[in-house]
Amino acid sequence: MLDPVALNPLEDWLTVERTVVAIVGGGPAGLLLSHLLHGSGIEHVVLEARSREEIEHTHRAGILEASSVQTLVEAGLDRVLRDGERHDGIALRFDGEDHRIDLAGLTGRSVWLYPQTDVFVDLANRREADGAIGDGGVDGGEVRWGATVTRVLDGGAPSGGAPHGGALQDSALQDSALRGTRDLPGVLWTDAQGVEHELRCDLLVGADGSRSTLRHTLPEAQRRTFSHEYPYAWFGVIVEAPRSAPELVYTASEHGFALISQRTETHQRLYFQCEPDEDPDGWSDDQIWAELQRRVAGPDGFRLEEGPIEERSVLRFRSSVVEPVRHGRMLLAGDAAHTVPPTGAKGLNLALADVVVLHDVLETWLARRGGTLRPDDDVLDEYGRRVSERVWRAQHFSAWMSSMLHSHPGETGFAARRRVAELRTLTSSEAGRRFLAEGYTGWGPVLGGPATTAATTSTTTASRGR
Ligand SMILES: Cc1cc2nc3c(=O)[nH]c(=O)nc-3n(C[C@H](O)[C@H](O)[C@H](O)COP(=O)(O)OP(=O)(O)OC[C@H]3O[C@@H](n4cnc5c(N)ncnc54)[C@H](O)[C@@H]3O)c2cc1C
Repeated sequence: MLDPVALNPLEDWLTVERTVVAIVGGGPAGLLLSHLLHGSGIEHVVLEARSREEIEHTHRAGILEASSVQTLVEAGLDRVLRDGERHDGIALRFDGEDHRIDLAGLTGRSVWLYPQTDVFVDLANRREADGAIGDGGVDGGEVRWGATVTRVLDGGAPSGGAPHGGALQDSALQDSALRGTRDLPGVLWTDAQGVEHELRCDLLVGADGSRSTLRHTLPEAQRRTFSHEYPYAWFGVIVEAPRSAPELVYTASEHGFALISQRTETHQRLYFQCEPDEDPDGWSDDQIWAELQRRVAGPDGFRLEEGPIEERSVLRFRSSVVEPVRHGRMLLAGDAAHTVPPTGAKGLNLALADVVVLHDVLETWLARRGGTLRPDDDVLDEYGRRVSERVWRAQHFSAWMSSMLHSHPGETGFAARRRVAELRTLTSSEAGRRFLAEGYTGWGPVLGGPATTAATTSTTTASRGR
């Protein structure tokens, strides 16, 4: 349980609470960090703007790399091994024909079909079982739904108000026990009833997604944003229909890209390339099916199994990386630090990988801090150094897959044929297939160690062939 430690002297109706780690955002990144910190006995609070129900019903990513499965299993969340589905391959479809990439055969690693909503449910259930959700939570961690962070407090001053001072920037602060609570970084947040609260902490983690508020507390002079916009987007649908294929099919056609993905035996996730400003409600169900069918059509006679369309949305594409991911006592993780287009299925996996490294670094930082009055804040820089390579590899992979598989507005005949030649060169070469398979399955374990995991040795449930 958190202690209300002081009354805010300026706004005395606010009770100031205090914790060790404050996490903004209860998506996969925030909740996994909460779960890992709980395991380490590190006190923390997660503030999540949305309700649990809303997040549980927001469809997003669906593919986990082997190392993400390993992360979940090692964290005691092994439902993925029972309810998830191991996929040993994907198909690249072009010129109307499938070209299978044997992920397992080429790399010894597989990927798992396990929707982000299930990852979230597993984490939320476990935090609930551990007593973190409810009336005030428990020692060691608390998750608050409907808690919206409205302002970042930089050691007493609202963020941006203290150009050379404040706890977010000070790398040589005395131990927090010696300082006033209001010298610590913190946030103002509003609960579901609209009541404002103040929370101060030793460390602030921004796991608040691609529209991160915390990212903007990085001073402009230090913040570098590397980004790329794409001239296309994905029209995504959830349909009630049997599977059309046992593994994901990435289709490049003269009419544009389409992805045939699966969810359950009765519901499937399908996407087709569209304009970034496409209105999803401007399409009838029949038009959507006609567009999908013409993109996958080919001499092999392949057709999609059709059924009612239950959900539709347009997903814009953006690549971005913010550096540095640390500013004093504030660190960014997951989509708050980087976003990728969905083509390579990397967003969720990167978020989980970030958190594994962040937890490792925080444990070290907090252990050193216990033994000294001058915390070694430089240890926190380890985090950015260690995640950067995977982040940039994923950026390259996602951008490369995207440009190879999508038709570009105004694309010349030369450019279109060059893309098909690239696909043919790639799929006809074992080295090419392995390059793709290594990227798709994610370059091995996050913290090093053996590449063979529970995720690569369990029995497959995905059947082969059509
Ligand atoms: C529509 C969509 C489809 C996607 N599809 C795919 C896909 O097919 N494959 C893939 O790999 N990736 C996909 N992604 C990306 C993937 O879902 C993300 O990479 C993943 O969710 C990152 O997790 P995260 O915890 O960092 O961020 P999020 O899951 O975005 O979680 C951030 C959380 O912070 C909360 N929050 C934000 N601001 C505040 C605030 N001020 N106060 C309190 N809480 C706040 C939000 O409510 C949210 O729950 C998709 C993303 C979107 C948006």
